[in-house]
Amino acid sequence: MAMSDWPEDATVQRFSDATSSEGVMVFAEMVDGHLLNVGRELMGPGREMADHLGVSLSAILIHHSVGDAPQDLIALGADKVIVVEDSRLEHYTTLPYARALSDYLTNVHRPEILLMGATTTGRDLAPRVASRVDAGVTADCTKLSVGPFYHRKTKSVTTHMLEAHRPSFGESKLACIMSNPEQLWAPAMATARPGIFVAPVSDSSRTGDVEAFTPDWQDGDFSVEVMDVRRGGGERVDLGHCKIVVAGGIPCGQTGFREIHALVDALKEQGLDAEWGASRAAVDAGHAPSTRQIGQTGQSIRPPVYIAIAISGAPQHMAGMKDSERIIAVNTDESCTMLQSADAAIVGDYREVIPQLTEKVKSGFTFGL
Ligand SMILES: Cc1cc2nc3c(=O)[nH]c(=O)nc-3n(C[C@H](O)[C@H](O)[C@H](O)COP(=O)(O)OP(=O)(O)OC[C@H]3O[C@@H](n4cnc5c(N)ncnc54)[C@H](O)[C@@H]3O)c2cc1C
Repeated sequence: MAMSDWPEDATVQRFSDATSSEGVMVFAEMVDGHLLNVGRELMGPGREMADHLGVSLSAILIHHSVGDAPQDLIALGADKVIVVEDSRLEHYTTLPYARALSDYLTNVHRPEILLMGATTTGRDLAPRVASRVDAGVTADCTKLSVGPFYHRKTKSVTTHMLEAHRPSFGESKLACIMSNPEQLWAPAMATARPGIFVAPVSDSSRTGDVEAFTPDWQDGDFSVEVMDVRRGGGERVDLGHCKIVVAGGIPCGQTGFREIHALVDALKEQGLDAEWGASRAAVDAGHAPSTRQIGQTGQSIRPPVYIAIAISGAPQHMAGMKDSERIIAVNTDESCTMLQSADAAIVGDYREVIPQLTEKVKSGFTFGL
C-alpha cells in the first residue's frame, strides 16, 4: 500500500506510537544448552524489519544456562540480548517461561514486534504470552514485513505495522494478517517454522548489550516438575542440515523406500551428509515416520540437492522444499509439477532409476557436491 492509496484527509498514526511500543524482539529458544537454529533464522527478518523501522533488535533467552548464546545472537544482528537464567529452567514448562516473557513485556519493555519459532515450545508459549499481554499471534508465517494499513471505515491509516504472511486454505491463498486498527495491541506476534528463513551471516565483530532479567516469580510458576525427558520415539531427524535429501512419494511403497535407503547409504559412503524424507501421502500410507515428512505440515528444508522420487509436487509439498538449490525429479509423468519445476528431470520408473543412481554413486558420482 502506498501513500496515494489513502485520501489526503485520512488520519495517520504510527503503530509504535499508538501502542507505546518500540523495537523488534526474537525469542531465541534453547534446548539442552544449545540455541535452536530457528532462533538464528529469525534474526534475519528481525534485523531487516528493525532496520526498516529504524529501531533496535533484541533477543530474549530463557534457560538454565545460556553459555555463549548471547554473543552468538549479537553476531547475528541483535543489539541487545535479555537473559533470564535460573537453574529451574532446564526443561521447558509453560508457566515459568510465560511468566518470564510476559513479565519482561509488561514491566520492562514492550517491543512492537515479537517473533518466535513455531516449534513445540513456541506453539505453546506464543498464545500463552499473547493472552497475558493482550496481544495476538499469527502462526506459521512464511514471510514477514512491515507496512501501512488503511482502515476505510474510520478513514485512518496505521503505518509501520507487522505484515505477517502465511499460507491459508491448504496453501491455495497467501493471507497477510495485521493488527486490528480499531483495537491495536503490541507486540504484534508471529511464529515461523524452522527452515523458513535463512540465518544471517554471523559477524563476530558486532557488539551489543547483554542484560540480565529476573522475573517476579509467583507461587505456582514451578508447580510442574519435569521428572524425565525422553526424546526420540519418533526418530527426529533434522533434514535441514543435510547436503542432499532423497525423498520418496506414495508409489514408492516399502520396496521403493528400501531402494531410497540404499541410495542414501551409498551417498553417505561417499562422505556426503545425506538423509531421506517422504511426502505426506507416503507418511500417511505408513512408508515413513511423520518425523521425516517434508512440506507445509512437515519440515521445511533448502538443501543444496533435493531428489524427489515419485512425488507429484503438490503445493503443500513444494512449500517445504521449493527453495532447495537444485531439484532433481524422478517421475513417470512428464507433466507433473515436480518435474516441471525441477532443475534436472529423469522421466522414468523409480524401480529402474534408483538402482542405476545407486550404482553411479557407488562409482563416485556425487551430484556435483
Ligand atoms: C492441509 C494440508 C497439508 C498438507 N501437508 C503436506 C506436507 O507437509 N507434505 C506433503 O508432502 N503433502 C502434504 N499434503 C498432501 C499433498 O496435498 C499431497 O497429497 C501429497 O504431497 C502427495 O504426495 P505424493 O506426491 O507422494 O503422491 P501423489 O500426488 O499421488 O504423486 C505420486 C507421483 O508419483 C508418480 N509415480 C507413480 N508411479 C511412479 C513410478 N513407478 N516411478 C516414478 N514415478 C511414479 C506419479 O506420476 C505422481 O506424480 C497436505 C495436504 C493438506 C490438505
